[in-house]
Parts: sequence; C-alpha cells; structure tokens
Amino acid sequence: MAHILVVGGSLGGLLAANILVREGHRVQVIEKAPATLDGRGAGIVTHAALFEGLRRAGVTIDDSVGVEVTSRVALDTDGSVVSTRALTQVLSSWSRLYQLLRDALPADCLVAGTTVRTVTETTGSVRLDCEDGRSFEADLLVASDGLRSVVRQQFAPEIVPQYAGYIGWRGVCDEAVLSHMTLSTVFDCFGFGLPPGEQLIGYPVAGAGNATVRGKRRFNFVWYRPAQGEAELAALLTDADGVHHPLGISPNKVSWRHVAAMRTAARALLAPQFAEIIEKTAQPFLQPIYDVCSSHIAFGRVLLMGDASFVARPHVGMGVTKAAQDAMAIADCIGRLGAEPAAGLAYQEARLAAGQAVVERGRMLGRYMQSQGSPNTVRRDSDEVLRETAIDLAPVVGVSIHVVPVVPVVHVLPVAPKTKQRRHQ
Ligand SMILES: Cc1cc2nc3c(=O)[nH]c(=O)nc-3n(C[C@H](O)[C@H](O)[C@H](O)COP(=O)(O)OP(=O)(O)OC[C@H]3O[C@@H](n4cnc5c(N)ncnc54)[C@H](O)[C@@H]3O)c2cc1C
Repeated sequence: MAHILVVGGSLGGLLAANILVREGHRVQVIEKAPATLDGRGAGIVTHAALFEGLRRAGVTIDDSVGVEVTSRVALDTDGSVVSTRALTQVLSSWSRLYQLLRDALPADCLVAGTTVRTVTETTGSVRLDCEDGRSFEADLLVASDGLRSVVRQQFAPEIVPQYAGYIGWRGVCDEAVLSHMTLSTVFDCFGFGLPPGEQLIGYPVAGAGNATVRGKRRFNFVWYRPAQGEAELAALLTDADGVHHPLGISPNKVSWRHVAAMRTAARALLAPQFAEIIEKTAQPFLQPIYDVCSSHIAFGRVLLMGDASFVARPHVGMGVTKAAQDAMAIADCIGRLGAEPAAGLAYQEARLAAGQAVVERGRMLGRYMQSQGSPNTVRRDSDEVLRETAIDLAPVVGVSIHVVPVVPVVHVLPVAPKTKQRRHQ
C-alpha cells in the first residue's frame, strides 16, 4: 500500500482518489474550498471511458446519472431545422457527478479548506506545504488542481493557459418555463445554433435534486462568442461595480449590462427557441476559453492530471472523460510499478500524446468558427459540425488507453423536407 496525496477535490481529483482508495492505497485529497463545490448544474457530455472510470471509482451507474438524447439538430435563425443527426448520448451534469464521487470517497480522505502552496521532492518522498502552515508527506503526489494549477506553475512554469480569443456564455433553464415550440423542436435533442463566427450548443440535463423526469429537467447551453481584444475580454470580466476579475468572474458577479446585451444579441442571431432559453435562464454566466498543453506531465514523484495537465476547448466535450482516463492510467501505472518515479514515467508515456491530441482537436474545432469572415476561412457545413462536436474520440484519434475502440451508433438521417442546408463560413 502506498501513501498518495491528491491536490484538488473536483471531478478529476475525486476520480483519482476513489480509484486509488479502491486499489488499496492510503489517499489524502487536499482541497482549498472549505465546503462542497458548486457546479451550477452545468452539463457534462459522457463517453464510455468516463463510465469506466466512475465504475472503478466505486460509483454505481443507473438512469439517474444523466439524461439520454438520441439525436442532434441544428436550428437556423428563423427556428427551422438546418441539419439533423442520430446519435445517442447521455448528458450528465457537473453537480451530479460531483455528488456521486463525493459520496463514494471515505470521509477521512478529504482535507478541505487547505490551500497548497509548495511541493518539495526529497529522496523517496514528496512533501506539500500549505498556506495554513500544515504540511503532508507521501510517496507520490497527483496534482488535479485545474487550469491554474500551482503544482504545474512550480514544476513547468513555462506552460501557461492560452486564451483562445472567445468566451462561452453558459447557463441552465428550467424545462417547466419553456414554450411548447421549444420543448417540441429542440429540448430533447443535442441542439446547435451556428451564426457566423459563433456557435451555440445545448442539451437537456437533470433539474433540481438531480431529477431526470420529463417536466423537471433543465436545458444547458454554451454560446461561444468572440471577445478578441484584451479590452473586450477585460470588460466582460468586470462586474457591475467596476471590479475586474482577470482570473475568471463568478456567476453572481457577471454584470447585468453584459447579460442584457447578450440576450439582445441572442434575439437577433439565434433561433427563437435558443433566444427563449437564454431569456428565461435566471443567471447566465461566462467563461473565457483557454488551451493548456503540457510537454511533460511527470516530474519524479509529482504527476499532473485533468485540467492541470491539459485543457482542451469544450467543443470536444472531453474534459471529465480525459480526467477519468488520466486517473485510471495513474492507478494502473502505480499498480504495475509501485508509487515510484517509474510509475510517473509510464503514466507520461501513456497519456502525454493523448492529451496533446485532444487539445489539438479542440483547436481544430474552434478554428473554423474563428476563421469565418477572414481570407483563410475554414469551410465546414452544419452536418460536419454535428458530426464532429463532443463525440467519443476513442475511435477518432485513439486517445483512450482503456477502452477498446467502439464505433459509435451514428446514422445520418435524411434531411427533412423543410430543412435548409447552409454553409457556415
Ligand atoms: C464551457 C465549458 C464546458 C465544458 N463542458 C464539458 C463537457 O461537456 N464534458 C466534459 O467532460 N468536460 C467539460 N468541461 C471541462 C470540465 O469541467 C473539466 O475538464 C473537469 O472538471 C476536470 O477538471 P479537474 O478536476 O482536473 O480540475 P478542476 O475542476 O478545475 O478542479 C481543480 C480543483 O483544485 C482545487 N485547487 C486549485 N488550486 C488548489 C490549491 N492550491 N490547493 C488545493 N486545492 C486547489 C480547486 O478548488 C478545484 O476544486 C467544460 C469546461 C468548460 C469551461
């Protein structure tokens, strides 16, 4: 049995900790948030490898894990159908996965309200020093401390998040308040809106109390919009009192003026169904989109995983699945080689190229949207967008080391008579 420290008690850290505990190790998760984290009910696309990771983490998977959709639809500005595609996927939510993983973790494994400051490697062990003066020592450290990982900053300071040039407006809207038209044309689908240079995706997720029954669900959306210049981004990250939040603005701080302007733009640019969803979303919030691409993820007894190692643009819908793959690979390497630097090297061998491939695919999916209107426009029609967004990448780029590649159930539907084809350029 090894002693392993996990920095970060969000989805990635909890996946790793639960898997390692179940494989017989002593695990301590150091999380800076003092209380339960809040994911605002935002949606998570699931893939086979995520379910494999959850099972290894001791989670029983049943229908309550998410909402199943069987098709995708792109809507034009007038609300008519541009493209459709059959694809069965389960859409979960951050809060649901967090609750399942927190419930699975033995209570004495979590050290909450403690912020890690520095990591020191000694011969045969690794030591954490925290801002409250506490320190911890163990055989190996797994850093799952997110986009702005302090552990990555210490071991690979040259790897910094790269702003992609656009933001995602996000939110969830109660099913019960939506019109019959929106419910009957898009609510039960993975929906897309493709105005030039922008993209909206949305799908149903569980509602309050993780209810997945009809009438109680919510519709989760992400609307990608350009915010190219520093000044434009800074304005969006400034609250109504004029305070700038450069590292990310919390949902309750987003300026009502920006929300109002975004809703006005939604009425002009998006299908009325999406405009209604956005209008009736109580608290839309926004997140700048970043890429993080590491060149090393193992430093002796220190391993980076999840968003600390790679952040791919959310078009790939792979963040939590990748964290699950990382967690399983770490547990496998420790199982094979012990909690030693050799296990770290084997983990890096298994996951580095996969992480880089996912980041590159996210860039590719974002590039076509950003290039519209420029001389180097990347052409892609709505069928291609529906086919490529947030799909299981195991069969596409072979990023899974655990899941035997399976061909997803994909049938291209004949275009319905009323639909229009449009090139997005
Ligand atoms: C718009 C958008 C849509 C997305 N959609 C999807 C999707 O559809 N599917 C999907 O799979 N993923 C999606 N993601 C990504 C997903 O949310 C993350 O990839 C996933 O949660 C894995 O993150 P993590 O646990 O590694 O890090 P995080 O979730 O960032 O957690 C890091 C944890 O570390 C803690 N921490 C940080 N610093 C310290 C410190 N110094 N000491 C102690 N604790 C610390 C933090 O408090 C936090 O709890 C999306 C992301 C965005 C922005």
